[in-house]
Amino acid sequence: MNDSIKLGRIAGIPVGTNWSVALLAMLMVRYVGFDLLPVYSPDLSFTARLVLGGIGTLGFLLSILAHELGHALVARGYGLPVDGITLWFLGGAAKLGGVSPSPQAEFRIAAAGPGVNFVLAVVFAGMAYLARALEAPNAVVPLLVLLVIINLLVLCLGNLIPAAPLDGGRVLTAMLWRRSGDRAQAISVSAWIGIGIGTAFTLFGLWRLFYVDGGGVGVMIDITTFLTGVFILSLARQELAHAAQRRLLREFTTASIMKSSPPALLAWQNVAESLDRIAHLPQESFSVIDSNGAAVGIVTRNQLLSVPMWERQPMPLTDLVVSLGEMESAFADDTLEDVAHRVFDSPNRLIAIGDGSGQVLGTIDLPSINAVMNPEPKPTVTASPIR
Ligand SMILES: [Zn+2]
Repeated sequence: MNDSIKLGRIAGIPVGTNWSVALLAMLMVRYVGFDLLPVYSPDLSFTARLVLGGIGTLGFLLSILAHELGHALVARGYGLPVDGITLWFLGGAAKLGGVSPSPQAEFRIAAAGPGVNFVLAVVFAGMAYLARALEAPNAVVPLLVLLVIINLLVLCLGNLIPAAPLDGGRVLTAMLWRRSGDRAQAISVSAWIGIGIGTAFTLFGLWRLFYVDGGGVGVMIDITTFLTGVFILSLARQELAHAAQRRLLREFTTASIMKSSPPALLAWQNVAESLDRIAHLPQESFSVIDSNGAAVGIVTRNQLLSVPMWERQPMPLTDLVVSLGEMESAFADDTLEDVAHRVFDSPNRLIAIGDGSGQVLGTIDLPSINAVMNPEPKPTVTASPIR
């Protein structure tokens, strides 16, 4: 689901689309303009069918976009990073980083998308009612009713099926999490339901495809049902793996894998002097102290080495230091389940572990967390060239 085409930004959130949307749009124009509307208005010209099909399709795509914006804006309100929104063949996706800070946040972020579509359904229903009262042309009311059905049944209720990765699955996760306090367990439950629902969609799509003659558009709907099932299945499996990882990370405190900071670097020295000091040290990250001995921040070996040779002498160390204020931090008795996502989201893939009084006890970086998650190094497979 990568963006192939960038469409711009809405409220600062990048919006893009995948080429597969073109396929979705063509199917939709074909269905709305050439199958559905002629039933109500048989004398529509080819151009009118194309234009009305296009308007219906645009309404559909904008409803998906509004759904994803609902998720993204509420997530941003909770301080979670929002990478952007992508539209693709099976709908849309809001790429959200981080982890919901609370069950309530998880609930609201998940419910926001379907909530937006419920409101849109009411708006389109009002417009349809008005169009009928004003005796609008025959095709207008069915077009608006279609948008009501899409928003209400597909985008709102369809997404509220309580199976991860659907929004309803996240709502269920939030409710179970709130009740038990165990997020990993809650994710597992919705993911298993997701595996059930995904399997059902996959099999139903296959059954329809081979045993029921659905006709032109019907076949495309069956293929879409099948693909949706496969998509739900694969994401539900990812969620299960994610829950298992959380359980594993819970076994460790930050203190148990923390790398203690070596004798600190001195804030008033330059990059070249600092590199000399750490030349024989094994550590990868260092705390930096001021002339009073107070910690001012963290610098990594990679940061120091990335400075070009000729700039190392003139550049003060303070130019590179990531101050403790800017840095994600945690306490020594936090579990890795609580802090892992902060390491993933931090710019240096590194967080500081403090003792609560402003002193840095050490750091945790991404390789340390990966080592916990994959305890046994995978055997390297070397492919032999085909001759
Ligand atoms: Zn959603």
